[in-house]
Amino acid sequence: MYPDSMRESIRRMEATREARMKQTFPMRTAEEKKELLRRFHPDYIEESMRKLAVGPNQGERTPNELADVLEAWPVFDETSIDLSQVEQDVDVLIIGGGGAGAAAALTAQAAGARVLLVTKLRTGDANTMMAQGGIQAADKPNDSPARHYLDVLGGGHFKNIPSLARALVLDAPGVIAWLEELGVMFDKQKDGTMITIHGGGTSRKRMHACRDYTGAEIMRVLRDELVNRNVSRVEFAAAVELLTDGRGTVTGAVFVNLETGQKWIARAKTVILATGGCGRLHIQGFPCTNHYGATADGLVLAYRAGAKLIFMDTIQYHPTGVAYPEQIVGLLITEKVRGLGAQLVNDQGNRFIYELESRDITASAIIRECREGRGVRTPTGVFGVWLDSPLIEMLKGEGAVKASLPAMYHQFARYGIFMDREPVLTYPTQHYQNGGILIDEDGLSGVGNLYAAGEVSGGIHGRNRLMGNSLLDILVFGRRAGKAAAEAAKATKAVPELSLKHVAAFKRELAAAKVPRSRKSPMILPDYRQPAMRGRYSFLGPDPECVLPAD
Ligand SMILES: Cc1cc2nc3c(=O)[nH]c(=O)nc-3n(C[C@H](O)[C@H](O)[C@H](O)COP(=O)(O)OP(=O)(O)OC[C@H]3O[C@@H](n4cnc5c(N)ncnc54)[C@H](O)[C@@H]3O)c2cc1C
Repeated sequence: MYPDSMRESIRRMEATREARMKQTFPMRTAEEKKELLRRFHPDYIEESMRKLAVGPNQGERTPNELADVLEAWPVFDETSIDLSQVEQDVDVLIIGGGGAGAAAALTAQAAGARVLLVTKLRTGDANTMMAQGGIQAADKPNDSPARHYLDVLGGGHFKNIPSLARALVLDAPGVIAWLEELGVMFDKQKDGTMITIHGGGTSRKRMHACRDYTGAEIMRVLRDELVNRNVSRVEFAAAVELLTDGRGTVTGAVFVNLETGQKWIARAKTVILATGGCGRLHIQGFPCTNHYGATADGLVLAYRAGAKLIFMDTIQYHPTGVAYPEQIVGLLITEKVRGLGAQLVNDQGNRFIYELESRDITASAIIRECREGRGVRTPTGVFGVWLDSPLIEMLKGEGAVKASLPAMYHQFARYGIFMDREPVLTYPTQHYQNGGILIDEDGLSGVGNLYAAGEVSGGIHGRNRLMGNSLLDILVFGRRAGKAAAEAAKATKAVPELSLKHVAAFKRELAAAKVPRSRKSPMILPDYRQPAMRGRYSFLGPDPECVLPAD
C-alpha cells in the first residue's frame, strides 16, 4: 500500500499515461550513451575501485569489495590438512549446484566420467532458481545465430571474446531443444509454437520464458534429472581451497562441512567451478537480487590457483530493483515487465529513456533522474522512479499482468500493491558479475585441468550482459565444460598428486603486499551481523548532495 506522499506522485504519472502511450521514445546515440555511462554508471566512480596488489591480475582495477576477497588470507592453515586422507576420488569434480553445475554434471556423466557434484547449500539454492524473465535463442525463421551474435556483441560494448560469443549463439537452439526434451514447460501458443518476446538490446523476439519463473522451471527439471540419473552429490559443503599437483595443475578441492565444520578432501582428474556470482558482496553498498551464497568463492579459489580473471571492473546493476516497500528493497523486477510494455516514468510524470536500452544504459538513466532531483522519494528516504505496470493491461488486455507475471504480481500483492492497477517503484540493484574466470570455448581456464562455467566465468558477455543470455551461457558452457572435462579426465591415467603449495605461495605474496591478516576469504555466506554489512544501502537514503542542479 502506498502512503499519501507517494500517491501524489502516482497521480502525476497517471495524468500523462494516455499521451505516453502514443509516444515513441528514441534510443540514445552512441555518444549520448557513452556520456550517460561516464556520468552516472557506478562502474565509473573512480574511488569505488582499486588496483589489485597480488595475483594474476595484479595492477588491474576491481571494485573494492571484490578486491577485499581476492586479496585475503585463507580461512584455514594449509599445513593443518592431512592430504593423504582422501574422502572422495572421482574423474570430474563439479563445485556448485546451480544451472551450470547441474548441466556440467549431467553431461560429464553422460560422457562416461565418474562425477561428484558438491554444493554449498541445497542443489538449486542458486541464482539459477531465481531467474525470472527468460532464456535467449535464435530459433525462429525471422532470426539467426548471426543476428543474436551481433546483439551479444553490441550489448557487451564489443569487448566480448568473439569465439565465446560465437559458441553461445550457435549452441543456443540446441540448448532449448535439450531443455524441452528434459521436460521444461516453456510458454507456448495454442498451436504449440514457442512464445518469444523482446529483451533489452535484442533485435528480434528470441526470449523463451516459463511465465516469470523461468529459472525455477529449468532448475526443477535439471535437479530431477540429477536424481533420476543418480549423479553423486554432496550438499551443505563449501569449497574453501583448490588442490594442485604442486606444478600448477588442479587436482581436487578442500571442502568444509557446513554442519559439523569438518574439512574433507576430494581428489579429481579435472575440476569444474560453477559457483556463480558475487552479488552478496554488495558492491558500493547496493542492494542485490542474488541468493545468499553468491559470495565470489569460486573467483577467490581460482585466483589463488593462478587463474586469470577478465572484466573484473564491471558489475551489472539491473535497472529495475524494488525500491518500495522496504522489506523487499533490491529484489528483482524482471525486464519482462518492460518487455511487455511498462514504461519508466519520473516524479514529474515523464519518460526519460527508451525502456529496452541495454541494462547499463537504463540503470544509468534511472540513477540520473534520482540524482538530478526527478526521483520519487519514499517515506524512509529511498529514491526511485515509477514502472508503469498498469500499461500492460491497457496494451495486452485485462488480466495480462497476472497471466504473464504471476510471481511478480504476488511479490507486490503481499504488501498491498497491485501491479495491474498501480505502478511499482524501482531503482537499480546489483545483479550480475559481467566478468569472471577467463575461459576458452570448452570452459578451460588458464590453469591446467581447471574448468569454469556460468556466472563465475568471464569474457562471453564483454562488459555488459543482455537479458536471457546468462541462463543460456550457464547451459551452453556447463555442457561444453562437462564434456571437455570428462574427456580430459579419461586421458589422465596417473593418480593426481595433491598439494597446497600454491596457497603457501599466495600467502607470501599477501605478506609482501602487507595485506591485513584479519581479512579472510572465501566468505561462504555473508555475515549481516557485522557493522560493515549493516550499513549497506546507505546510498539510497536521504542525501543533500543527491539532488544536483539539472544541466
Ligand atoms: C533474481 C535473478 C533473476 C535473473 N533472471 C535472469 C533471466 O531471466 N535470464 C537470464 O538469462 N539470467 C537471469 N539471471 C542471471 C542468471 O540466473 C544467473 O547468472 C545464472 O543462473 C547463474 O548460474 P550459475 O550456475 O553460474 O550460478 P548459480 O545458479 O548461482 O549457482 C551457483 C552454485 O554454486 C554454489 N556455491 C557457491 N560457492 C560455493 C562454494 N564455495 N562451494 C560449493 N558450492 C558453492 C551455490 O550455492 C550455488 O548452488 C537472474 C539472476 C537473478 C539473481
